[in-house]
Amino acid sequence: MVHIVGAGPGDPELITIKGHRLLSEADVVIYAGSLVNTELLKFCKPDAEIYNSASMMFEEIMFVIAQAERAGKTTVRLHTGDPSLYGAIQEQMDAMTARGIEFDVTPGVSSFLAAAAALKQEYTLPGISQTVIITRRGGRTPVPDNESLKKLAQHRTTLCIFLSTNLLAEVKQDLLSAGFKSSTPVAVVYKASWPNEEQIIRGRLDNIVELVKASNIERTAIIIVGNCLSTKQEARQMTKLYSPKFSHTFRQAKD
Ligand code: SAH
Repeated sequence: MVHIVGAGPGDPELITIKGHRLLSEADVVIYAGSLVNTELLKFCKPDAEIYNSASMMFEEIMFVIAQAERAGKTTVRLHTGDPSLYGAIQEQMDAMTARGIEFDVTPGVSSFLAAAAALKQEYTLPGISQTVIITRRGGRTPVPDNESLKKLAQHRTTLCIFLSTNLLAEVKQDLLSAGFKSSTPVAVVYKASWPNEEQIIRGRLDNIVELVKASNIERTAIIIVGNCLSTKQEARQMTKLYSPKFSHTFRQAKD
């Protein structure tokens, strides 16, 4: 049996209770070494076989899994954040299905959520944006043309841009040409939730490139863009949920 497990964004306490249990029971653990916090491996059994997939090729990963299956062992495939986002797991799941290997998936806390927590920020502010777009900028990995940043940015939603901090200058150009104001707030969160390593850089579209350059941050960072980050509280509307004028299933409006 193979368990694909979301490791969470970095803080070892942010793996789910189920993910922790599966990790602590696994005979074989294959972790995505480029991003998973190795502190999590302390939860493994002392005799667990541990592999870092960063240095492995697809067929090697499948070989380790198949061998463990033949020996009746349990494997955990540990992915950063939540496995459904930029996890490259679909091809592994397809290969396991094709080979008749049973597997399941345990979700994890994605880094875009850890970034919101680091920023102490709600992404869906009434009157500002009720939509969050999770995307990346096309680079070495192309993005379908109809979802280019330039097109997505036209909606002025909150944007969570993965895998693109090294392309920040291009991100800025795309957003400006889509009509985002140069004063639009931007935050770059590096290693969100990692104890002693998290860094937050706050700026605006017109200065974020310089600010990030000065900080030497390149990888393991997420770019958050949108007016939800604005400190201008008067632009926001109060959430209706707690308003005295708003009834809902659990409460009647007061006149
Ligand atoms: N499945 C992961 C994303 C993997 S892709 C998730 O759900 O978070 C790798 C990208 O995720 C990185 O380039 C970076 O953009 C982002 N990322 C992963 N962990 C991060 C963290 N702790 N802080 C900020 N960004 C992170």
